[in-house]
Amino acid sequence: MNKEPKLKTFICEMCGKEFLTDGNRAKYCYDCRIERQKQRSRAYSEKKRNNEQVRSIGDTDICIECGKPYVVKSGSQKVCDNCRKQHTNKLKQKPNAEYSSRAYDYLRVYVPKGDKAKIKEFADKHNISINKLINLGLQMAMDKLKQSD
Ligand SMILES: [Zn+2]
Ligand SMILES: [Zn+2]
Repeated sequence: MNKEPKLKTFICEMCGKEFLTDGNRAKYCYDCRIERQKQRSRAYSEKKRNNEQVRSIGDTDICIECGKPYVVKSGSQKVCDNCRKQHTNKLKQKPNAEYSSRAYDYLRVYVPKGDKAKIKEFADKHNISINKLINLGLQMAMDKLKQSD
């Protein structure tokens, strides 16, 4: 004897229409289910196109530091708990990586209006950094002034 599929009546949560299905848990009628799937994949590809991370809180993502999977706790999270501290330190250090605060003191120099571009151009032409150029200039100036002491 053939098993008759047990059809149950459900009310679609989207359009409110009654529909029959043999499943135990059905929220949407056939039409709405298709429509929902379309919407989902559209939202997904939209996000992908905007380069947004397609994930949500509670999802598992891969830590960019150690490569281990971790559970996402906030939208901007990129590393696991173990790497968080190290990673934040790294980010803070990045802009000044070239001039480690241990080896150098920080000095702010004012130049006449418009000279910055000229200095940069000059440094570029001679393939040295502005920082190096200024240090070189300081050294030369001090040597010169020392001679005239
Ligand atoms: Zn429906
Ligand atoms: Zn990690």
